[in-house]
Amino acid sequence: MASQKNIVVIGASVAGHTFVNTIAPQLPAGYRVILVERNEFIVHLPTVVRSCIVPGWESKNLTSRLTQENVFPTGSRHRVLCPNSVVELRTNSVVLSEAFEGSTELAFEKCIIATGAQQGAPFRPAAGSSLDEYKTFLRNMQNDIKAAESILIVGGGTVGVETGGEINALYPKKQVTIVHSESGLLHPDATAAPAGFTTFPTTGAKVSANLQKQLGVRGVKVYLNDRAILQPGQSGPLGSRQSIPLKSGETVEADYVLVSVGNVPNSAIVKAADPAAVSANGYVIVDSLFRVVPGSSASPLAGEYYALGDVAALPSWRTSVSASAEGPALGNIVAAEIKGKSPKAYTPASMTGACIVTLGDKGGAGQLPMPIFGTVSAPGFILGMKSKDFFARQFDARFTGATKVSTAA
Ligand SMILES: Cc1cc2nc3c(=O)[nH]c(=O)nc-3n(C[C@H](O)[C@H](O)[C@H](O)COP(=O)(O)OP(=O)(O)OC[C@H]3O[C@@H](n4cnc5c(N)ncnc54)[C@H](O)[C@@H]3O)c2cc1C
Repeated sequence: MASQKNIVVIGASVAGHTFVNTIAPQLPAGYRVILVERNEFIVHLPTVVRSCIVPGWESKNLTSRLTQENVFPTGSRHRVLCPNSVVELRTNSVVLSEAFEGSTELAFEKCIIATGAQQGAPFRPAAGSSLDEYKTFLRNMQNDIKAAESILIVGGGTVGVETGGEINALYPKKQVTIVHSESGLLHPDATAAPAGFTTFPTTGAKVSANLQKQLGVRGVKVYLNDRAILQPGQSGPLGSRQSIPLKSGETVEADYVLVSVGNVPNSAIVKAADPAAVSANGYVIVDSLFRVVPGSSASPLAGEYYALGDVAALPSWRTSVSASAEGPALGNIVAAEIKGKSPKAYTPASMTGACIVTLGDKGGAGQLPMPIFGTVSAPGFILGMKSKDFFARQFDARFTGATKVSTAA
């Protein structure tokens, strides 16, 4: 297969996989996709907020093993390398952790960086963890939450709020407290945009206020403009009730601490190749064709490197909604380039500003940007749709190989 020109894709979650599904059918003979994924499985991350709380949800609606058979049709020339990792980016080639076709160095025509973000479990599986290990982690956490009486959630972004809502829905008598550094839940403060990434949008103040009101009615305490002062290792089950100091001087009593902050771009391999291609807050700098902007023409990244999804500095929220718009857009750009046509620059569609936040099986709030009407509050049926299966059908639909994936709840 040495004569094949490789389109290497690093990371097989929303961004990488939607790119692959768009580019693979458009590639002329002589080109093939090589999809590299370090974990043996892919997680539908929106479901995690329930799977770490509600017993049984670790087994449904959440994960799928990534195989040649469930990604590509039978007999396809395209390849899934999984589990395998890209450990180094070079000029026109990448280095793999495991050899493929006799070598750990893999030459490419184009390389797509879709390495996403990283955060501690449960919110993202540890690099290299097996599916069984991840499910065991989730089951242990469900048991620890069941045993806890008072849970402190550090971070009131979407994930912290949704997880608090899930705990409250299942265990209404447990005390749940959310401590958040901004003036409202989610991200209403423009000043909170990460340094060097000024285009990161804010969430609507109405959505924040609505969520806070609903949580208040349910007895969930919310501290805003504040920070928990945690000791090293003070997360998960504490073994006993402890007083956790806040920066404001208040204290929160808790026997379980869930840290829902620290979601950072997974850009280490890019930074190692060219530190100037990564912004101060860790995002890979790209242009409107998703091309990585190298520090200099001598950079190994000065060739055919692209980045998208959670790892890339693009002007919309780093969400599954955005990643699943960027994958097809980049697929069409690369297909056009290969065919010698002018590619169309990417601008985020208004839907990438959608934000739907559920609170267990009932309630929640959100915003939907609509053409002509502008941004409107998310109607109840949309919240209900998300809460029912966290849009898992979209996850299943990504797997277009002969072996079907079904994570339906
Ligand atoms: C708990 C949680 C809930 C969320 N809920 C929502 C929601 O309700 N709605 C929404 O729109 N968004 C939600 N998001 C955000 C959404 O999941 C992300 O924006 C989306 O997953 C980004 O996709 P991605 O493909 O860019 O990156 P990721 O999903 O992070 O995937 C990156 C992939 O790359 C792989 N990888 C990394 N490095 C390498 C390497 N060197 N070699 C090979 N493979 C590698 C990883 O294993 C991973 O599979 C949520 C996120 C979390 C954490």
